[in-house]
Amino acid sequence: MTQKIFIGGEWRLGRGDTTVSRFPADGSVNAEFPAASLDDVEDAISAADAAWRTPDWADRQPHQRAEVLYRVSDLIMARQEELARLQTRDNGKPLAETRALVASAAGTARYVAAACETLEGELPTQRNADFMTFSTYEPLGVIAAITPWNSPIASEMQKIAPALAGGNAVILKPAEATPLAALKLAELFEEAGLPKGLLSVLPGRGRIIGDALVRDPRVRKISFTGGTSTGRHLAHIAADKLIGASLELGGKSPTIICEDADLEQAVRGVVYGIFSSGGQACIAGSRLFIHESQYDAVLERLLAVTRDLRVGHPETDGVHIGPLISEAHRDSVAAYVDQARAEGARILTGGQAPSDPALVSGSYYLPTVIDGLKPDSAVCREEIFGPVLVVLPYRDEADLIAQANDSVYGLASGIWTADYRRAWHLARKLEAGTVWINTYKKFSIATPFGGYKESGLGREKGRQGIQAYMQQKSIYLGLDSAPIGWSR
Ligand code: NAD
Repeated sequence: MTQKIFIGGEWRLGRGDTTVSRFPADGSVNAEFPAASLDDVEDAISAADAAWRTPDWADRQPHQRAEVLYRVSDLIMARQEELARLQTRDNGKPLAETRALVASAAGTARYVAAACETLEGELPTQRNADFMTFSTYEPLGVIAAITPWNSPIASEMQKIAPALAGGNAVILKPAEATPLAALKLAELFEEAGLPKGLLSVLPGRGRIIGDALVRDPRVRKISFTGGTSTGRHLAHIAADKLIGASLELGGKSPTIICEDADLEQAVRGVVYGIFSSGGQACIAGSRLFIHESQYDAVLERLLAVTRDLRVGHPETDGVHIGPLISEAHRDSVAAYVDQARAEGARILTGGQAPSDPALVSGSYYLPTVIDGLKPDSAVCREEIFGPVLVVLPYRDEADLIAQANDSVYGLASGIWTADYRRAWHLARKLEAGTVWINTYKKFSIATPFGGYKESGLGREKGRQGIQAYMQQKSIYLGLDSAPIGWSR
């Protein structure tokens, strides 16, 4: 049966171009179906614009909106395995990772539901005034949510849940490569009783469907996760429309092993930080800084741990690294490594596709460690979004901070040290939205997440993550019965 898409609460065949979801492990087709057309975008926006204003949603108390999110959270966990497998088919991540992403989506829905139940307006303090003021939080209206392929279900819930909790309607445009988990999420929201029109899922080309969506005057906020160049383009559109945009963008995050670090813990943390998800993570710790006095010893252990990683079929237990999202993406990763070679770098391990005949039909690439590059090489500066770690020595703290911050990005960073005073000091100096100390890639839904510099604008998660989808209205209440103004 041909996959339908979810437009304004109805399951319909898309009227746009054919879209194909492929399993990156062998290129086989998971689904092939018509994506959304511009007419479908129009229908979704009309439905959304009506839906968020209807009393059925606008007048629901926050705890009533929260009920839908609690139910969705339960439904997601009841189908965790099915959703994880679907996402592994869509983007090739190992099952252990997609199971965690599904649990994260359920946790987000639950956290947002609980936070939504306890949202309050504000009563600014005032004494002896002849009026009092309230500040209430109100919805923005129709939200355009646009997501990438690397952690679809988790990043999609991170947008849908707070937007709905804030009383808005959401139109989600998932990445071309990963439409299936997003459509399954729509099914679960429908089953949980979300009123019609509040959520649409429109698979399709970003430049056509995504672009038309964000340009529509009825769309009042863009919530985007993806590459920095796309984010910049969307920021221009938001500026023209004078609407808000939350932008979660790319990174080239530094991780630092200090001389006093627990070497084994640090090396394993660094390896996990770059090579989990095959490096296809915005927060991947893709630049490693090692003190020059320990450079060779740390590198030796790092290479041993990296060579032990298991690259293989993402549905096999115990696999650390699955295929990359597509052949084209693998070619782009390989081109960076070739460029490093041409610049005289040492490719210390990896640097090619695996030779295992069982893996030749998938877009696999070995975990790769490179050193000997100048810090201004494109390989050190640009986001590769693959399993490639560049290693650089540092002399002293001033040199370290200068090198670590010498990037247009500022998403995340990691510090491995036994000295918490030093860790605090370094953390304050690093230009990054998240600093992990003696850990990496850990997330709390209550803790704000977002980037410095070209890694983004705005923060997701936490209670403020819901308010980001609301606008404040200040209401003045006169307390005096006498006429106001000149007569006083
Ligand atoms: P991408 O920017 O190419 O695409 C992201 C989404 O934007 C897709 O849905 C795509 O269809 C859509 N899109 C593309 N052009 C568009 C346009 N002109 N108008 C509207 N929509 C458009 O990114 P990608 O390759 O899917 O994802 C990888 C990137 O995402 C990396 O740079 C990564 O760092 C970033 N990312 C960031 C975070 C974060 O939280 N900061 C998380 C995950 C991924």
